Amino acid sequence: MNPWACWPERSRGRRYAELPAATRDAHQRDRDRIVHSTAFRRLVYKTQVFVNHEGDLFRTRLTHSLEVAQVARSAARELRLNEDLVEAIALAHDLGHTPFGHAGQDALHACMAAHGGFEHNLQSLRVVDRLEQRYFGFDGLNLTFEAREGILKHCSRRNALHLCASEPDGPAQRFIDGGQPSLEAQLVNLADEIAYCTHDIDDGLRAGLLQLDELLRMPLFARWYEDALARQGAAGAAGAAGSAGATAQAPGRRVVFETLRRLLAALIADIVEATAAAVARAQPAEIDAVRRSPALVGFSERSRHEVDELKHFLFGALYRHPQVVQTTDLAREVVADLFAAYLAQPAQMPPDFAAEADTPRAVADYIAGMTDRFALREHRRLTGRRVFEDA
Ligand code: MG
Repeated sequence: MNPWACWPERSRGRRYAELPAATRDAHQRDRDRIVHSTAFRRLVYKTQVFVNHEGDLFRTRLTHSLEVAQVARSAARELRLNEDLVEAIALAHDLGHTPFGHAGQDALHACMAAHGGFEHNLQSLRVVDRLEQRYFGFDGLNLTFEAREGILKHCSRRNALHLCASEPDGPAQRFIDGGQPSLEAQLVNLADEIAYCTHDIDDGLRAGLLQLDELLRMPLFARWYEDALARQGAAGAAGAAGSAGATAQAPGRRVVFETLRRLLAALIADIVEATAAAVARAQPAEIDAVRRSPALVGFSERSRHEVDELKHFLFGALYRHPQVVQTTDLAREVVADLFAAYLAQPAQMPPDFAAEADTPRAVADYIAGMTDRFALREHRRLTGRRVFEDA
C-alpha cells in the first residue's frame, strides 16, 4: 500500500477498545462484521430503483452494494489503497436506506420533519453504531473510525454539530471544520456513481423504460456502443448469434453487456489515472495530510462531464419515468401510513423499539430497517389494504 493509504496499524481505533483479532487486521474485521450484520442481509429485499417484486433480474440494494465494492476494489488495487477498508465502506454505504429506495427515504424524511428529519447517510452510521445488537460489550458493530468516516458520506452542519456533541472529533467533525475523508472513502463515493450509472442503464433497458436511441445521444454510452459493435463484427458467429433478432431499437443483450463492461472499465481506468496524477501533485505524506488536502480522488474533466450528463439523463428518463413514479408514489404512501400507525400505537412495534423514549425516532429506525416485502406485509396488517397487485 502507498504511504497515504489507511494502514490498519495506524487506525484511530474503535469506540470500545477490543483486543486485536488473531488472524485479521482491523479493517478486514470491519468488513467481516458488516457482512455478518442483519442490516446487510436485509439489503437483498430492498429496492434500488425497481421495487423488489417487479422482477428477479433487477438490482437490489445488495447487488448494488456488491457492484460498488467490485468497482472500488479494482481501483483501490491499482492505486495501492486499502482494499479491505474500501470493501467494508462499499458494503456498508447503503445500510441506512429505507425500503422502496429514494421514495421511502423522502417519505420518512417528511414524516420526521418535526422530529429531526431522516437522512440515509446518517442512518447508515446509526445502524453500524447502534441499531445492530449482536455483541455483549457494546451496541452496534464497533467499527474503526476509518470505516465510520467512510460511511458518513454526507452530513448537514446541523446534524454534524449534534453528532459532535456526543463524540467530539468523531467522523462528523469534518463537516464542521471542512476537510476530506480518506482516499478509500472518496473512492467508494465515485464507485457508487459508476456502479449505478452502468447498472441502471442495464436495468432500464431490460425493463423497456430506456430506449437505445436516447442512450446513443450520450457520448459516453455511444462511444463504447460503437466500439462493442465493431468488435462484434470481428468476433463473428458467437457475437452474431447473441444478437439474433436485434434491431436498432432493441439491441441484442450481448451488445449491451459488451458496451457496459467497456464503459465500466474505462471509468475505473479514468479514476485511477486522474487520482494518481492528483496524488502525485499533492504529495500527501500520510492519511492526515489526505484529510487536509482538497479531494484527490476524481474523474478526468471529460469523464466528470460525461458522467454528469449521463446521470442527468437517467434522472429524467428513468427515475422520473411515469411507471417508476407510479410505484414510488405507492411506496411513499406505504411508508407514511406505517409511520402514522406506529406513532399512534408504538406497541405494534417489537418491544425494544416500543420501549424507546423517543418514539418518532424509534418508529423511523424500525421502518428504515424494513425490507420492501416486510413493509408491505406490515402495511396490510395495520391498514387492511393491499397497495401492490402481486406483492
Ligand atoms: Mg449506493
